[in-house]
Amino acid sequence: GTNTETLLQTDDVVKRFGGFTATDHVDFGVKAGEIRCLIGPNGAGKSTLMKLITGQHPVTEGSVYFNGSDITDDDPHERIDRGLSMKFQVPSVFEELTVRENARLPVQRFASGDDRRRRVDESLSAAGLDGEGETRAGDLSHGQQQQLEIAMAASLEPDLLLLDEPVAGLSTAERRAIAERIETLNEERGIAFIVIEHDTDFVERISEQVTVLHQGSVFREGTIDEIKADPEVQRIYLGG
Ligand code: ADP
Ligand code: MG
Repeated sequence: GTNTETLLQTDDVVKRFGGFTATDHVDFGVKAGEIRCLIGPNGAGKSTLMKLITGQHPVTEGSVYFNGSDITDDDPHERIDRGLSMKFQVPSVFEELTVRENARLPVQRFASGDDRRRRVDESLSAAGLDGEGETRAGDLSHGQQQQLEIAMAASLEPDLLLLDEPVAGLSTAERRAIAERIETLNEERGIAFIVIEHDTDFVERISEQVTVLHQGSVFREGTIDEIKADPEVQRIYLGG
């Protein structure tokens, strides 16, 4: 996007689990309309940072700002109302419900009747799930489930959508479809993204700026080309 306003900013954020520091004084900012990828070795603290942003975990120290407001003390629902939405690493569709019943859940609180039906139809169609409304969600392919989850998160009409490993375990074609979906939501609806992903082709396709986390801290920020060429980044991935 062309908007350069800061949408999200963490200010000196620390998260400790007992004596273990999972997030270590992180200043992390995302601009309105941008797609940012968050990478780093297993255990780097990527998922934890996302949960601090969405309010799933309270911070131990520091502050989180969103759209110009201090949201540090807001609970997750308040953050959703402010325009922050997330798809978790662990699948969270209800397998026993139909695709349509799942898609209806996020919009239930703020839409009714025809408006709700229209939103659900639109989000299923955009997710490539037109004919699957009555399918049990547990019977969808893994790629379709990811599409459904992204559709559900996007139907909350967020300014910022966080995706934790949306293409893990997917085929090349399914990855491409998810990349296209992210790009469309970004271009047509102006939604900014933070995407945790390991696959460098995927990261290169969707993201200009990449943030590397390592041992709970921001290790590098730069373009994907800068990050790929950085010997120190290569070293941490090899466990050095
Ligand atoms: P990543 O997503 O980068 O793989 P995580 O954010 O999931 O890493 O985890 C970072 C570190 O914090 C790991 O060492 C993990 O074991 C630890 N951690 C994450 N969540 C908890 C928790 N709820 N309790 C204790 N330790 C946790
Ligand atoms: Mg993780």
